[in-house]
Amino acid sequence: MSERTPVNLRLGTTRFVTDSQSHIDPSALRAGSPAARAVIAVCPAGVYREVGDRVLADAAACLECGACLAVAPDLGWHYPRGGTGVTFRQG
Ligand code: SF4
Repeated sequence: MSERTPVNLRLGTTRFVTDSQSHIDPSALRAGSPAARAVIAVCPAGVYREVGDRVLADAAACLECGACLAVAPDLGWHYPRGGTGVTFRQG
C-alpha cells in the first residue's frame, strides 16, 4: 500500500486482540447528555451507542486514539492490558 491508499483500506489491515476485561467504562455517562453526545460524535470507530438512558461501549473496536477521553474526562478509559488492543499495520 502507498501513502495514497485510502484510510478505510489501511484500517482494514489493523489487528485487534480483544482483552477479556473491557478497558472502557461508560457508566458515568447518561444518554442524551453533552458528554454522551460528544463521545458518540468524536469516536472514529463507532464504539459508543445509547440504549435507553445508558451509554454502552464496544471496547473491542477501539482504535486507542484517546479522542473520547479528551471530550469526556470523567469517562472510565485506560489502555488495554499488555498484549491486547489494537496493532496498526499502516500508520
Ligand atoms: S479511544 Fe478513540 S476509538 Fe477508542 S473509544 Fe475513544 S474515541 Fe473511540
